[in-house]
Amino acid sequence: MAGRVVSRRQFLKQAGATAALLGLSEALIPQVARALEELVAGKPPIIWLQGQNCTGCSVSLLNTNYPMIAEVVLDQLSVRYHPTIMASAGYKATRVIEDCKKENKGKYVLVVEGPVPKNNGGEFCTFGVGKGMKDLMGKRVPGDKPMIEWMRELVPDAAAVLAVGNCASFGGIPAANASVTGSTAVEKIVAEIDSRKPVMNVGGCPAHPDWIIGSAMEAILYLKGIGKLDLDRYKRSKTFFGKLIHENCERRAAFDAGIFLEDWNQNNQDLKLCLFKMGCKGPVTYADCPTRRWNSQVNWCVGANAPCHGCAEPAFYEELSPLYEPLPNVDILGLSPTTDTIGWIAAGATAVGIGAHYLYKQLGQKTESSKGGEE
Ligand code: SF4
Ligand code: SF4
Repeated sequence: MAGRVVSRRQFLKQAGATAALLGLSEALIPQVARALEELVAGKPPIIWLQGQNCTGCSVSLLNTNYPMIAEVVLDQLSVRYHPTIMASAGYKATRVIEDCKKENKGKYVLVVEGPVPKNNGGEFCTFGVGKGMKDLMGKRVPGDKPMIEWMRELVPDAAAVLAVGNCASFGGIPAANASVTGSTAVEKIVAEIDSRKPVMNVGGCPAHPDWIIGSAMEAILYLKGIGKLDLDRYKRSKTFFGKLIHENCERRAAFDAGIFLEDWNQNNQDLKLCLFKMGCKGPVTYADCPTRRWNSQVNWCVGANAPCHGCAEPAFYEELSPLYEPLPNVDILGLSPTTDTIGWIAAGATAVGIGAHYLYKQLGQKTESSKGGEE
């Protein structure tokens, strides 16, 4: 994809936007600008593959407003192959993968959206065209093959792998409930191919555009020796997945006071009742949705009166479903409240000065595997 001319003023604006995206202070804008200058000069190539996915994360990325996706694609990153946004198709498109791999050995970033099916030799997800065919010039056409084969070909020469979205990062919906396709998280596939290959995960169903762009930028700056990579134990950036939703939720006061929405028909016009009893997984989900918000900061799930489903967590979907049922096995102060008693126990716990962070470190069995971002 061709680049375009960007004025110094626009460039500094982008540096400011990138610094803000990564949660850095304004004082660091000159350093970010310097880093971006190096980055743009080098334009790290990106090969974006889609496995067993719905393309929701790509659509989410295309919705980014600031920085605009065109700025990201054309100015800061060099996306060589992306099945949804590239203009070419057929074997011409697929050949870009092979050329990029050959020309950028050890330098390209492999971005994967969706998990990789392993059953039946991976035949549930294949791409490429015309196995064994030649084009009009007599050149061999990259043949159709399973996603897992593409991974085996591309992982060894990649500088790093970025798994985008809950499905790619943790298996997500395709891996839930005894998946017939054998959907497997990207990190596990990469470990089978090369256990030393760096992998970074971006949770979310879909992933927020800022999480995708920001994580990619963090990874690339790190690979260039600029900036640090602060990941949690699930390899997610702490910039985006470092804080518990429950601790930043605008309805937290209602939770602490034991005031809950109990029925969807109940009047909640002022949007203040806590959604815990309606299935909110905010107490076990690490993501910055309450402060970053979605759709250009318009709103977020709880703000729209929908419980958080925990889509940023490794436990999503299977362990956090049914989505509209409360978290089970809550253990507060050694008590195991039912959904009827959680209110007064939570209120009592708050009254004796026990914070939510402590409370939800105590979540039992099922939610224990709904692993938080903080170490
Ligand atoms: S349970 Fe959900 S709605 Fe209630 S305070 Fe926590 S995050 Fe907000
Ligand atoms: S609030 Fe919860 S369900 Fe909604 S996007 Fe954030 S992590 Fe996902």
